[in-house]
Amino acid sequence: MNNTLDQFKEYLHKMRQYDHVLTLLYWDLSTLAPEKGVEARTNAINYFSTEAFRLSTADEYGKMLHTLSEMEVPPRCASAADCSRDSENALRCAAAAEQFDALDETMQLTVKRYLRDYERFKRIPEEFYSAYTEVKTRSERAWEKAKRAADFSLFAPHLEKVISMTKEYVQYMEPDEDPYEVLLDMYEEGMDSATIDRVFDELKEGLLPLLKKIEESGRPDLSAIKGTYDIQAQKKVQDMLLSYIGFNKDAGATAESEHPFTTDLCIGDVRVTNHYNEKDPISAMFSAIHEGGHAIFGQNIDPAYEDTALEQVNMMGLHESQSRFYENILGRRISFWVPIYDKLGELLPQFKEIPLDTFCRAINDVHPSMIRTEADEVTYCLHIILRYEMEKAIFRDNTPVDELPQLWNDKMEELLGIRPKNDGEGILQDMHWSDGSFGYFPSYLLGSMYDGMFLEALEKEKGSVDTILEEGRISEITAWLNEKIHRYGSRYTSAEVLQRVCGKELSAQPLLDYFNRKYAGLYTFNI
Ligand code: ZN
Repeated sequence: MNNTLDQFKEYLHKMRQYDHVLTLLYWDLSTLAPEKGVEARTNAINYFSTEAFRLSTADEYGKMLHTLSEMEVPPRCASAADCSRDSENALRCAAAAEQFDALDETMQLTVKRYLRDYERFKRIPEEFYSAYTEVKTRSERAWEKAKRAADFSLFAPHLEKVISMTKEYVQYMEPDEDPYEVLLDMYEEGMDSATIDRVFDELKEGLLPLLKKIEESGRPDLSAIKGTYDIQAQKKVQDMLLSYIGFNKDAGATAESEHPFTTDLCIGDVRVTNHYNEKDPISAMFSAIHEGGHAIFGQNIDPAYEDTALEQVNMMGLHESQSRFYENILGRRISFWVPIYDKLGELLPQFKEIPLDTFCRAINDVHPSMIRTEADEVTYCLHIILRYEMEKAIFRDNTPVDELPQLWNDKMEELLGIRPKNDGEGILQDMHWSDGSFGYFPSYLLGSMYDGMFLEALEKEKGSVDTILEEGRISEITAWLNEKIHRYGSRYTSAEVLQRVCGKELSAQPLLDYFNRKYAGLYTFNI
């Protein structure tokens, strides 16, 4: 028994080395790799990915997982009734169950999760897998071109292929399940479309009247913010913000990339990137806070989970809830800036001339806009609802690809009251569908909804967040999140986390309450 467990741990350690190398190669490709090094780096990534895929589908690995799992029922002994008829099998069954029970909880969950993944991947024919990978790579390139040219027709044939192959891909993995449900579950374990329908509808119903009231109040005057801001100084602002929220520099690093992202090499090395714009210092500030939130999660996972499935948090909604908690729930309130606003003025002198109130209105300028990634925290929700409805049209209604741009534009008009002038600012704006990441979008909004609930729980336990922040005690909030959420890694599903931290199931109401309270204070209307 111990023998198999030891072998299994050794095997996991080996697989983790491949992950480590791959993560580092991706990091390098996205940050420092020069143009002429891209091909070599891509080749190395392909090589290590193939090796990693082989390791994760090897018979030897499957055997270990089966031995360690209680699902190891001998072939002739498919049920308890069979067991009682065949004493030799009964003994083997009992021994297998005992082995599984002997594993600690971390290992039991690891075996369970990896066995599920192993069996899913094992069902995918190798030729299909490589064909699918190639189609996605080509589709990503076509999308980049199509986006630049704002011409959907350049992307349409690729998208069609990616959609049909993604359906096929998930059908290999879970032949008896609805493909879109499998995709949702892949990005947020345990989540299903019935739950998402319920909470998105609840949210939509509450958001549309709120947005109307905000729009009627008019937009703030933001001319004081306009200007040119030194990039080196913006980098110092990023360092200041990361330290302020609790990012551990001894267990992380920063770099620049085209799009900001966070990468977890291991618990002791979680890195963030940022992208700077001379004309818009606020964008980099909030990217820093957002990615910092992801990183604080990764840095504070219990070190005992190293080399196990619990170290990897693949629940994107839960992860996003942590980055958005810092970015929106904390970062977009005036009290967050009270202890550091003078410091911001020292690093970027233009802010000395901008009153904190004006800055606060600038970072909460709610108005319908075309681009999701530039949207404020309120209209952002509607951008996600639109994408979710589009994905259901693609996967459930089989809407033809050439009808998708029109559908997108109609939904944009229905939800946000604006219509894209071209597909570049419409359906082509996000890269997610070009690489088959259907089912990913809802996790952004689920994260925000979890945040409404976490905020409610936090204030119930610790009192007003504004008071805590104004008094410069943000580390107490980070400690609360560490204790309640981060340290468990992926031990609990999001639904379990909500039960443990908030004592209830998912609801959109706390997020709506937060929006209503906040914007009634910022704008002049009654809720
Ligand atoms: Zn994020």
